[in-house]
Amino acid sequence: MSSVAPTDPARRLLEHRTGHPVISLYLDLDPERFATAPARAAQVRSLIDQAARQLDAADGLGHDDLVTLRADLRRIDDYLNSREPPFQGAGALGVFCSGRDDLFEVIQLPRPTPGRVVIGRVAYVEPLVEALQQRRWLVALVNRRVGRVLGGPVDRLEEHANFDEYVHGQHDQGGWSQARYERSVEKDAEDHLRRVADGVNQRWRSERFDRAAVGGPVEIVPRLESHLAAEVKANLAPGRVEVDLSSANDDEVRRALAKLVVEDEKELERETLDRLAAGVGSGGRAVGGPEDTLEALNERRVQTLLLEPGFDQRGARCQSCGLLMLKSGGRCPADGGVIEQLEHLREAAIEAALGQGADVMIVRHYPGLGPLQGIGALLRY
Ligand SMILES: [Zn+2]
Repeated sequence: MSSVAPTDPARRLLEHRTGHPVISLYLDLDPERFATAPARAAQVRSLIDQAARQLDAADGLGHDDLVTLRADLRRIDDYLNSREPPFQGAGALGVFCSGRDDLFEVIQLPRPTPGRVVIGRVAYVEPLVEALQQRRWLVALVNRRVGRVLGGPVDRLEEHANFDEYVHGQHDQGGWSQARYERSVEKDAEDHLRRVADGVNQRWRSERFDRAAVGGPVEIVPRLESHLAAEVKANLAPGRVEVDLSSANDDEVRRALAKLVVEDEKELERETLDRLAAGVGSGGRAVGGPEDTLEALNERRVQTLLLEPGFDQRGARCQSCGLLMLKSGGRCPADGGVIEQLEHLREAAIEAALGQGADVMIVRHYPGLGPLQGIGALLRY
């Protein structure tokens, strides 16, 4: 199975664990609401004001931290009001800044995300995890004459190559016999499909993709597939993109692929939930429910953390060793450290999972986590 959640930027941000505060600001770029500069500017204003009020009310921050955070906030404000930010093509922007750590990172999110600003000891990455959970696709669409190779997350596919070949049909048949002519037409079609497949194979090796898909007439697609490299075939979605290449525009291609992607996601969720069900309780490699899942996270045994979209509750965490608990009170059983209350256990669980190299899967299509109170995990051992 390929990686469930390409969450590398989130992981990277979480590595900034120096104890210095980080501002995490998410700017919504929903085209229906924030397509214009004035609408964006109003949202920036409101988020910066919120952050300034949080700083005024904050206790527990030292003087140096406060001074740096106010400067960080001005820096974010200036940046978002400049011409620099990559608004184009993004559903939202995440901006992460910690002047004391030399951290200033901007990440494009593919989908709109509610505007929000959070100041904490680590970057607030949860919206990033959910948004980046989208997998990267490599798609080849063919017919006898034309081939297109596209790649990227499903809602931001970009054309990588366009094979529009001058194959027989327009050729002057000269004095060829019909049989010889037909053989030559077939050879041209085969050469064309091999060229498209070579393009796909090369692209697969030079970039990171999670899944591949093909589309085209039923008599052509298997011929294309036969030229695909083994590693592409191994990640090929079972369905086909249903689109007529001779007439489809980009939107139609995207819609056809989106349908296939939903089917593919459902299947992956189904498979993962089946593994969860088979492993829970029997002493196998899975746990379900908040208590057992936290224990597995604390033991760093989690391979994939599974969450319902709405899962959240309060919890607690040791400030020195990071041990997660359901209830606060007393001292950490492991090292006697101070226990902090958590408003959002969801966030802490995702953070812990990413910190131990686990994937995070938000289960959207099936209610399988319901009986487990919305949380579970597949284990490494
Ligand atoms: Zn502890």
